[in-house]
Amino acid sequence: MPEAATHVGSGKVRELYELDDDRLLLVASDRISTFDVVLPTEIPDKGRVLTGLSAFWFARTRELVPNHLLALRPDGRSTECRKLQMLPLECVVRGYLTGSGWKDYQATGSVCGHVPAEGLRDSDKLPEPIFTPSTKAQEGHDENIDRKRAAELVGQERFDEVERVSIELYRFASEYAAEHGILIADTKFEFGLDQEDRLVLGDEAFTPDSSRFWPADEYEPGRAQPSFDKQFVRDYCETLGWDKTAPGPELPEDVVTGTRARYIEAFERLTGIGFDAYLADPEVVLA
Ligand code: ATP
Ligand code: MG
Repeated sequence: MPEAATHVGSGKVRELYELDDDRLLLVASDRISTFDVVLPTEIPDKGRVLTGLSAFWFARTRELVPNHLLALRPDGRSTECRKLQMLPLECVVRGYLTGSGWKDYQATGSVCGHVPAEGLRDSDKLPEPIFTPSTKAQEGHDENIDRKRAAELVGQERFDEVERVSIELYRFASEYAAEHGILIADTKFEFGLDQEDRLVLGDEAFTPDSSRFWPADEYEPGRAQPSFDKQFVRDYCETLGWDKTAPGPELPEDVVTGTRARYIEAFERLTGIGFDAYLADPEVVLA
């Protein structure tokens, strides 16, 4: 593994190494998790798709907010980045009504304290994107929290800043993606602070792991949407009667191939770059 780098952590998907006092190496594996359980089967090249897409978006949003990206390694799955003090918030932005947002709306007419409009259907576009933070659970599922609780966790001023920046990032990327045939239904960011206490975007950005991507040409509100993300794997898991606790099920070959193809299609549509070209020279996504 990396030269003189100390392994400092493992997430569900990434391995973290410390390069020096200021820099980390984030290595995205091919692991896939569903319902917060890492499955025993890997999706070949998935880590490269996540790394390449994140770098693509980091390069395009640095005018909106600084980010942690310092360099992309030739293996296409490793990112040198600034070490940040991560905020204890998962910054979720929703542009469409789906998932837990749709469930909340059906039950209460609101989504994490936002009251978007009456009479919305499954997968409808929200009048405005909304910010619905959750806590970063050490273990198990993240928990939705209201704005007051989120502001208590990071301070009101910081909360206002992450909300504003999150919505700006979402607006920028969702407009861009829509022009490339993909609707970003929702997405999640993780921010941290640098040594000068400045807000910096960390982790990953607008990947199929952190977002729901829908093919725009098949979009039809009033029903659940087909998607480029893990939905394919989730749907397979749902057919098994698995109780969604570890250990997760092995994935059959066709589910692996189908999932890999969806990740790569999302990459190619969004970046306009062939995945083979990325493998040959990852830095093409930064241009
Ligand atoms: P968890 O770490 O809770 O398992 P996860 O499964 O999403 O969450 P991964 O995405 O696999 O984790 O690993 C990335 C980890 O690195 C996350 O804990 C994230 O908060 C952290 N991280 C990302 N960017 C930075 C950064 N620039 N500085 C410090 N930590 C970071
Ligand atoms: Mg993560």
